[in-house]
Amino acid sequence: MALLVVGSIALDTVKTPVEEHGDLFGGSASYAATAASYFSPVKLVGIVGTDFPQTEFDFWKSRKIDTAGVQRVEGKTFRWSGEYAWDLNTRQTRSTELNVFEKFEPKLPRSYRKADFVLLANIAPALQSRVLKQMERPHFVVADTMNLWIETTRADLDTLLPNVDLLILNDSEAREMTKETSLIKAGRGIRKMGPRYVAIKKGEHGALLFGDNEFFSCGAYPLEDIHDPTGAGDTFAGGMAGYLAGTVRKVHFTDLRKAMIYGSVLASFCVEAFSLERLRNLTMDQINERYEAFKLMSQFEVIT
Ligand code: AMP
Repeated sequence: MALLVVGSIALDTVKTPVEEHGDLFGGSASYAATAASYFSPVKLVGIVGTDFPQTEFDFWKSRKIDTAGVQRVEGKTFRWSGEYAWDLNTRQTRSTELNVFEKFEPKLPRSYRKADFVLLANIAPALQSRVLKQMERPHFVVADTMNLWIETTRADLDTLLPNVDLLILNDSEAREMTKETSLIKAGRGIRKMGPRYVAIKKGEHGALLFGDNEFFSCGAYPLEDIHDPTGAGDTFAGGMAGYLAGTVRKVHFTDLRKAMIYGSVLASFCVEAFSLERLRNLTMDQINERYEAFKLMSQFEVIT
């Protein structure tokens, strides 16, 4: 089944302690759609300006990502710039230029409205809600968010949450949202705000999944070389949602566990290179090889 993905499409500038690159293809929807496209057909919703390279539209086409819902309008594409500290985990946003995003009004083509699976990648929660309103009762809605929306548009986020099946956020965002120091209390607390399932990402320490009396914890793939962590969260969400859309009709907790491992696998590829470079040309064999390694690493044997 197809997955509808809405979010930002951006040109990024990223500085790590050893390298800096500008005009990078980025944005939450770009990462999420590319990751998802390894598992299911994707229908993309977003906006770009006239400076956005046609080569990326060609790339989406090559990955069978439908771009009928991407508006190209007069003006500049959304631009974001970030800088990482030595731990390649702590990040400071240097600048955000909304540009064409400022007047973005998502409009779903008719062919998008019946999609069964939806990923509301990171954008303002009011826009995420406006996309859902145009849809005909999707089976499963995944949403991502960030500290900016928790701090500045909390009422919009609270309105969205009852319409979300799985909310994905990172550990500091979960703590900020609930004012809890314990991630277990935070995960359970967020479920009470609406989403049936909650996934909390812990960077290099893996992720937690909360459901109805169900809980799952997985580690992160042990990578030695990280070049650019940008987009890892969006890729994780795209891998999870794409796996669900492509393989299951009705989502159960066991499917979400597998989806979480696939999300972690895709995120591990994402950080190995700048921008989407590592995600562009993966094979299912490469993805499944890491999935199997993940499964082996997670096996637990008691030796007495
Ligand atoms: P992540 O590293 O998963 O947090 O995602 C990084 C991507 O999010 C970058 O490619 C940015 O272009 C995009 N991004 C940064 N800030 C925002 C924002 N306020 N709204 C939407 N997308 C954003």
